[in-house]
Amino acid sequence: MSDRRIRACPRCGSLRIRAFSLREGGVPGASEMSGMYYCERCKKKAMPIIFDDEKEYKKFIKQMRKAP
Ligand SMILES: [Zn+2]
Repeated sequence: MSDRRIRACPRCGSLRIRAFSLREGGVPGASEMSGMYYCERCKKKAMPIIFDDEKEYKKFIKQMRKAP
C-alpha cells in the first residue's frame, strides 16, 4: 500500500512545504514530530493540512479560491 497522502500549506495551499530544518530554527529531532513545516511559497512556518488523496486536496483548493 502506498502512501498517497498530500501535505499542503494551510495559508496558500502550496505543496512546496518541507519539514523544518535545524538551521531554520527547528528543534533537533522534534520538528518532524511536532509537525512543523516550512512553506517555500509564503516563507512561513505552517502546520500542514494532510489530505488523504489528490481529490481531497483539489476540493480544498476550490474552497480556498471561493473564499473572500
Ligand atoms: Zn504557503
